[in-house]
Amino acid sequence: MDYQAYSVHNFRNIPQIKKLSAEQRFDIEVVGQVLPFKVNNFVIEHLINWDNIPDDPLFVLTFPQREMLLPHHYEAIATLMKAGADAKAIKAEAERIRLELNPHPAGQLAHNVPIVGDQRLEGTQHKYRETILFFPSQGQTCHAYCTFCFRWPQFVGMSELKFATHEIELLIDYLREHPEINDVLFTGGDPLIMSSRHLAAYIEPLLAARLPSLRRIRIGTRAFSYWPYRFLNDDDSDELIRLFKRINDAGIHLAVMAHFNHPRELDPQPIRNALQRVRETGAIIRTQSPLLHHINDDPALWAALWNKQVDLGCVPYYMFVARDTGAQHYFAVPLVRAWQIFREAYQQVSGLCRTVRGPSMSANPGKIQILGVTEVRGERVIELRFIQGRNPDWVHRPFFAQYDEHATWLNELRPAFGEKRFFFEEELEAFYRENISTSTIENFE
Ligand SMILES: *Cc1c(COP(=O)(O)O)cnc(C)c1O
Ligand code: SF4
Repeated sequence: MDYQAYSVHNFRNIPQIKKLSAEQRFDIEVVGQVLPFKVNNFVIEHLINWDNIPDDPLFVLTFPQREMLLPHHYEAIATLMKAGADAKAIKAEAERIRLELNPHPAGQLAHNVPIVGDQRLEGTQHKYRETILFFPSQGQTCHAYCTFCFRWPQFVGMSELKFATHEIELLIDYLREHPEINDVLFTGGDPLIMSSRHLAAYIEPLLAARLPSLRRIRIGTRAFSYWPYRFLNDDDSDELIRLFKRINDAGIHLAVMAHFNHPRELDPQPIRNALQRVRETGAIIRTQSPLLHHINDDPALWAALWNKQVDLGCVPYYMFVARDTGAQHYFAVPLVRAWQIFREAYQQVSGLCRTVRGPSMSANPGKIQILGVTEVRGERVIELRFIQGRNPDWVHRPFFAQYDEHATWLNELRPAFGEKRFFFEEELEAFYRENISTSTIENFE
């Protein structure tokens, strides 16, 4: 299958785009100046239901929507375009707007870069004790872009925010010095955008190093639903499958962290075949997704998503809360509502689906789960806990925030019971003081 990509420059050539009104096409062009937009022929032909435009969730997932920009941002770009402004002026305005969209949430750039000797290990992040994230430089794009993506700055050329590394050898040194790390997680973008040869150039040295502490390799990907042919009949699909087998043969567990947002993504036969072929390598496929208004904010839909995943041999893993960046105002689901959706979905499925955890916010102090709403001595509260913490000792301690039906992120929550701060805040601030001296990023949620 030939891969055909479309962007803001050529999406008008998509045959089905004629189903949109001139105004809708203009909106795509306006929003696509600011937020990344890329879609491909598989998504267009197999995922989007073109009889259900513009509300189709898989259309909203991949095509920019007018409301993804705040009205004044939309007007600023639309006015320039209608006045026939040149590309340079439009680009300058788009860049200005992007800086107002919290381009780097959870302080990722500043806080989590490990050091080996006197070298910073660019392109990695070591935030939680057992796991290091690795962003291979050729893996910093995707087969199509999700409109909610929190990695959006790297797709629009805010390149100083781009993680990248060629430094697998440095990573191996770091792993030797840090035997507490069991787990290297390849992420991106989508690392499976890389050729199999490139991916092997990262993975083979890791296998060859035979680090006793390295027990798992994870690969995060959305290729199953955006380009399943990656696993089936691309030129180097067989090579990829052989690489997966070699990981397992080396005694290292391969976890493929697959990203799906909607149960319909599990219907097309090529996607099912791709899941099957990867499972045959011995890899375990674990699934994760954010909860998104306009796309999947419905308990029955999540129950269907988890059920289908388990039917196809996958293990539901995380439900995330949409990050506080980009078009968050469009996708945000209040935390209390997120918990209700999770709970109602969880109640409908058997234990095999209940491996899933959530809803979880990947915030600065850690991954924080909303456990529920309850009442303690007459005060209505939200109960929370860390699934992962910067300090492992924070994990699994219940803590409480004042009930707030509108809050969509941790920074909008206040401690319950008249307390001034959450239990972890003082330590977190001390951490910032030690680590943020060289950074200009202010993102203290
Ligand atoms: C989610 C995440 C991980 C992996 O966490 P698990 O709970 O082990 O899946 C690792 N590092 C960062 C920065 C993360 O956000
Ligand atoms: S596949 Fe992942 S990294 Fe790529 S655009 Fe979607 S959410 Fe972002």
